[in-house]
Amino acid sequence: MKIKNTDLLKECCYINGQWVSENSGAKMPVYNPANQEIISHVPKMGGDETRMAIEAADAALPEWKAKTAQERSEIMLRWYELMKENQEDLAILMTLEQGKPLAEARGEIAYGANFIEWFAHEAKRIYGDMIPAKSTSQRIMVIKQPIGVVAAITPWNFPSAMITRKCGPALAVGCTIVIKPSPESPLSALALCQLADQAGFPPGVINCITGDAKSIGAEMTSNSIVRKLSFTGSTAVGKLLLEQCASTVKKVSLELGGNAPFIVFPDADLDLAVKGAMLCKFRNTGQTCISANRFYIHTDIHDAFVEKFKTEISQLKVGDGFEADVGQGPLITQAAFDKVSAHVADATKNGAIIELGGAEHEKGGTFFQPTLLTGLIDSMLISKEETFGPVAGICRFSSDDEVIKLANDTNSGLASYIYTKDLSRAIRISEALEYGMVGVNEAAISSELAPFGGVKESGLGREGSHYGVDDFLELKYVLLGGI
Ligand code: NAP
Repeated sequence: MKIKNTDLLKECCYINGQWVSENSGAKMPVYNPANQEIISHVPKMGGDETRMAIEAADAALPEWKAKTAQERSEIMLRWYELMKENQEDLAILMTLEQGKPLAEARGEIAYGANFIEWFAHEAKRIYGDMIPAKSTSQRIMVIKQPIGVVAAITPWNFPSAMITRKCGPALAVGCTIVIKPSPESPLSALALCQLADQAGFPPGVINCITGDAKSIGAEMTSNSIVRKLSFTGSTAVGKLLLEQCASTVKKVSLELGGNAPFIVFPDADLDLAVKGAMLCKFRNTGQTCISANRFYIHTDIHDAFVEKFKTEISQLKVGDGFEADVGQGPLITQAAFDKVSAHVADATKNGAIIELGGAEHEKGGTFFQPTLLTGLIDSMLISKEETFGPVAGICRFSSDDEVIKLANDTNSGLASYIYTKDLSRAIRISEALEYGMVGVNEAAISSELAPFGGVKESGLGREGSHYGVDDFLELKYVLLGGI
């Protein structure tokens, strides 16, 4: 697969509007997870270059925040248009480095670009307040101002959208940003920077650093110029970064791991539930934070659901994301493959039954068979941790109270799904679930229009929607006297 716009393939970092290499020439390979071949190299930068990028973002801040919302919006909309124009090339780069089927990669580019468009318009709606004061000679004015320089650290599973979901609100309100993408998928990030450059963002407004996570993260979290850290990734790293940010008291948003329950009640439309289960279990090879991780199926419809789900799963074509009709690509790394294998081994050791799959796919490498297990119990690893792979584990339940207890019995609280035709049950269960998001008869819940985020150890803050700007703003109270 070749891209048409070869300018999008970058092997340098983007700092202060310049494409730069690491001084000593240190580089890191970028692999194609479908065949383990090296696609490209990116610089292996560290703390010093991160500091340079932060200082560039700081220098660019006064001019960027002084622009009118309309001016920032126009540049953002040009960026959005360029993403749409280059959608196919961006999708090809993503499938190459991340492995997801090309159709899914195209979808992610469109989804990611929407955050830029949505927040470009939201830039014009950063309203303040005027509060009646105690004295008639006073007014209380509340204004919202950009927090300042933002550091963003992103994962490999959505290499484009996790960046635009942060850049959209940050840039719209007048912040500047330094991005550290995942080493597994840096090409998508650098291609976005190339388009940002073309769109006309002033130098330093957007910067992107690839390299050693620990030293980049240490600089981002300890440098007092950075006023806000926005992280998407695992809960373990999120906790560490939260601790590291304490020394400079930064505002922190965390979009962390999930352990989503997918609950099907006896009155559900089973075909709709199976369609949703396929989407939210096998999309991106099960490597999404909102992937269903535990399926709770009412005992009355358990066998019928399993039969239908099994039929659908068995039709899933596994392969390189560039092959026609592929619905499931490789896992990102050998470590990811090993985790999925360990979860299946632990489940079967503890009594789960393999209905389908359960092992390495014949394609080898990190390809894993789409897998269906029944007899899930809550002490299994697969019930307790994010599997992050194409394994659906099913547990029976008998009552609403029982399933709410099972579903909430986790430290995670990101996404949850329920299938029922009973409106009152839908409302009761949605309110009882300790999750940031609930899909009712719907598995495709992500959108730039809605607040995405979790409770408990799944994170802090929300991305997307008008709530998404709050994390990048500071409130200022001004008391006007002598009126
Ligand atoms: P990860 O291992 O936590 O890595 C995420 C990012 O953090 C990578 O860029 C990584 O770089 C960096 N990182 C790791 N250690 C660091 C440190 N000490 N200092 C600074 N940066 C550090 O997560 P992942 O495996 O890439 O992503 C999968 C996880 O993300 C899953 O748990 C998934 O649920 C979660 N996720 C959550 C959401 C959400 O919106 N809630 C969305 C997508 C994914 P290196 O790889 O170089 O270490």
